Amino acid sequence: MQATHPEAPRSAQTPLIVPRAEHSISRANISEYALKVLCKLKQEGFAAHLVGGGVRDLLLGHEPKDFDVATDATPEQVRAVFRNCRLIGRRFRLAHVHFGREIIEVATFRGTGADDDADRHVENGMIVRDNSYGSIAEDALRRDFTINALYYDISNFSLIDYAGGLEDIRTGQLRLIGDPERRYREDPVRMLRAIRFACKLGFRVEPQTERPLFELGALLGDIAAARLFDELIKMFHTGYGLNTFEKLRHYGLFGHLFPDTDACLAQEEQSFPITFVSRGLANTDQRILGDKPVAPFFLYAVLLWEPVRRRYEQLLAKGVEEAGAMEQAASEVCAREQPLVCIPKRYSLPMREIWALQPRLLQCDGKRPTRLIGHPRFRAAYDFLVLRAEAGEADQDLADWWTRFQEADGTQRTTMTEGGAKRQRPRKRRHGPESGSGDHSGVSTTEVFDGGA
Ligand code: ATP
Ligand code: MG
Repeated sequence: MQATHPEAPRSAQTPLIVPRAEHSISRANISEYALKVLCKLKQEGFAAHLVGGGVRDLLLGHEPKDFDVATDATPEQVRAVFRNCRLIGRRFRLAHVHFGREIIEVATFRGTGADDDADRHVENGMIVRDNSYGSIAEDALRRDFTINALYYDISNFSLIDYAGGLEDIRTGQLRLIGDPERRYREDPVRMLRAIRFACKLGFRVEPQTERPLFELGALLGDIAAARLFDELIKMFHTGYGLNTFEKLRHYGLFGHLFPDTDACLAQEEQSFPITFVSRGLANTDQRILGDKPVAPFFLYAVLLWEPVRRRYEQLLAKGVEEAGAMEQAASEVCAREQPLVCIPKRYSLPMREIWALQPRLLQCDGKRPTRLIGHPRFRAAYDFLVLRAEAGEADQDLADWWTRFQEADGTQRTTMTEGGAKRQRPRKRRHGPESGSGDHSGVSTTEVFDGGA
């Protein structure tokens, strides 16, 4: 049964088994709760393996985000072993074992679903439900990428590789198990996972795994909008959002997720490419690197801003007043986006507040700035304005005025808001994103916003 050479042909029948002495995974690097779950399942006579991202990341010397366990115990049997266990998911039934805030996800080995009584449903090639259980060999082959199908066996601490994942880890290659097109059709989210892992690990996507990415984007339309929201947060909130965005656009997938934004990005404005989204994502990446908090509502405010802004400007041109124009623009863009990527209300409401505050940030006179600074969403709206200014789309002097206003004491604030500041409408891009000088708008912004400070 045991293959000894890494190049030996592998199949479900002949896995490569690497004994403890020959691999780098040590129990010292595995979460104590995952070890508890593995050991307890073993004690109860079940097979228990660490699998997925935990094994992959440990082999690569990264710190795993979470630890997933695979077992031959059914979800009900897992629940009988652990008091702190809940079964979740109907489409894909799993056991969650809770230890305070840490959750160890325990999945029963899935089979091929070939048996008549197997609980597996496929619609137009897409797996919509999979609770058909099977052997570890079958389980390995239904996983997505070879590098995600490595098992660490708690019974003897060996590594088991059914799909060539160890070799792909060694060479830095991301490869789907089986026929790529069929695997993407079974679950189109795998296209997003391909991009996510390629960015996160810096792996090259193997050509046959890569090719369908250019062609199958429309399948994303069949995925539940709430699942896409969760998947996109994983892609954009892990420190490589800009790279992810660029790859999504490269493969033509971004347009299937954010068609309005994609259409805006295809156009230039006054001969300058639109850099706002890239800058926003680069900024989010930097915050994550610096261990600063990031918020999904800010991310979505960035991702959808271009179409909102354009519609807003159209409505202003038609004579709609600012607050009403922003409200209407936001509603129209959200109504088109929500069926594709469903942004939960707890994020869409603050996202819309950030947009609604943009015209209000133009009002630098009287008591309004002091009132605005106390708004719970002021800081996010200000950060947003700074990004807009960096992208050359809002006035840098306005952003600077708000920076100074926040730092100023009471007397200075009074001076800044007295008389000098005039109410300004949002203005068109005043210079290219990289050009540091030249105000082509014909308005001396220093005069308008300095207010004598
Ligand atoms: P990370 O947790 O670091 O994001 P991961 O690989 O652990 O990465 P999870 O979403 O936690 O990803 O999934 C755990 C494992 O379950 C994966 O490694 C893979 O083996 C399997 N898996 C997850 N999603 C799919 C899918 N859509 N198709 C096939 N297998 C999947
Ligand atoms: Mg995981």
